[in-house]
Amino acid sequence: MHVECDCGADAIVYGDAKMPVKCVKCGKVIINPQGGRGRIDCKIIEVL
Ligand SMILES: [Zn+2]
Repeated sequence: MHVECDCGADAIVYGDAKMPVKCVKCGKVIINPQGGRGRIDCKIIEVL
């Protein structure tokens, strides 16, 4: 998925990530894996 962090940086991430995914710019956790499915804590721009 193509997502955008609150800080405006965009990132390509997997929705089913097993590890937390942080924004490369501000370090905020944007994908928070919980019980197998990632909780997405940012804006989704596009589902690839
Ligand atoms: Zn950010």
